[in-house]
Amino acid sequence: MSILQSLPSAAETPIGRFQSALLVIAHPDDETLFFLPTLQGLQAAGTRVAILCLSTGNADGMGSVRTEELRAACNVLNVASEDLEVVDHPGLQDGRGNRWSPYLILPVVTAAIGKHSAEVVITFDAWGVSGHPNHVAVSEAIRIYALLAAQSQPDEHVPLQPPQTWVLETTSCWRKFAGPLDVLWAAQWVWFRWLYLWASRYTYVNTLARL
Ligand SMILES: [Zn+2]
Repeated sequence: MSILQSLPSAAETPIGRFQSALLVIAHPDDETLFFLPTLQGLQAAGTRVAILCLSTGNADGMGSVRTEELRAACNVLNVASEDLEVVDHPGLQDGRGNRWSPYLILPVVTAAIGKHSAEVVITFDAWGVSGHPNHVAVSEAIRIYALLAAQSQPDEHVPLQPPQTWVLETTSCWRKFAGPLDVLWAAQWVWFRWLYLWASRYTYVNTLARL
């Protein structure tokens, strides 16, 4: 039994029932470290969940390994291989110093929403949980998407019936300690990731807010 399979089942998320959902993350691991209750809650409610990962996680030259780890995680998490997309774009490379333009992310997200007929899109909030700039950039792009959708004017970036957009609320603890924890994160210490997975609130509970 893997660590993912041994985790307790998440309660149904409060965002409702949908046929299809799109989870937008920045790096491989984000789905497991932050969004597990949401993913499992949606699946328990009968929702097919697709994952759009906007980078390969190549900050340390381990992009191919981390991408394969993500594919393996999706296999355990019952996300079909055709429902996982990992983007490898020069402007969307993993790294705190790599600033991602929301306007680069926007068309990628819009295409994925159309491909999966997503009725709901879920991503990070403006704090990005760990404060990672790539997480924050993804959140900003989804926020722009929601604003464009709310204008209800036909737009090349927004389909006629836009999906709901929800964000994972960053806990106050992480807001306070995001800096030091992110240093540990960047060190790629496996023990820290395991410790995190067992100790983190995000492993067991996700609080979502609708944009
Ligand atoms: Zn990340």
